[in-house]
Amino acid sequence: MSRRRQIYEGKAKILYEGPEPGTIIQYFKDDATAFNAEKKGTINGKGVINNRISEYVFTRLSHIGIPTHFIRRLNMREQLVRQVEIVPIEVVLRNVAAGSICKRLGLKEGDQLPHTLIEYYYKDDALGDPLISEEHIACFNWASQEEMQDIASMAIRVNDFLCGMFAGIDIRLVDFKLEFGRLYDGDFSRVILADEISPDGCRLWDMNTNEKMDKDRFRQDLGGIEDAYQEVARRLGILNNDDNSPGEVLDMSAHRGKMRGKPAKK
Ligand code: C5P
Repeated sequence: MSRRRQIYEGKAKILYEGPEPGTIIQYFKDDATAFNAEKKGTINGKGVINNRISEYVFTRLSHIGIPTHFIRRLNMREQLVRQVEIVPIEVVLRNVAAGSICKRLGLKEGDQLPHTLIEYYYKDDALGDPLISEEHIACFNWASQEEMQDIASMAIRVNDFLCGMFAGIDIRLVDFKLEFGRLYDGDFSRVILADEISPDGCRLWDMNTNEKMDKDRFRQDLGGIEDAYQEVARRLGILNNDDNSPGEVLDMSAHRGKMRGKPAKK
């Protein structure tokens, strides 16, 4: 076993100190939780598939100019990423009504929303990640207005790109969650996409059958969850691919022009 230092253990991932300063290793576990960890379980092989799906998605996003923390995949369950200061906001994009918005607003699951909705939730497990407005974010200085502009514009671009990418493999992107982090360079920072994008944090429905191909299968005890995740990976063309080449290193110098002043300390 390696002796590297563990920085953090989350519900689905462990973070270790990376080989160089400013880097972190993200280890993808098979553990699954739902309803703010009230429901716990294991999905065999989930970590391996999510590692690959997230690598694929982040690499595609970097190709359209979205700066991300992803550097390269290291092995079956680990990827090397840039160390960032996580913005304590979960950004949820919704194209179709499902999940919490149906309960909150009495919508019918599956109804197309008049337009894509962006929601913000405060990242705090003890509070159950409450829905917040931009007013709360400004009031408590969780992110600056400039950072929120960057976050919203990146989130919309990510949604547009992923809707098309998934539509191309007959999958409807119903909703998903993004997280962003601050990458510091001296006194300056900019927000980049962090965390992961995988069926754990997306709702993905088969366009022809409406079958769920995401963590709702676990949340709702629908069974077949391993197969559903594998099917997403297979359609993306990344499952039976023995190519172990690591993903690409994103040259952050290309994004230096967008560095922002360091936000005031809380
Ligand atoms: O539960 P809710 O309907 O608000 O979730 C919206 C989307 O955000 C879903 O795709 C869900 O998987 C994702 N999400 C997440 N992590 C959370 C909350 C929501 O990945 N803590």
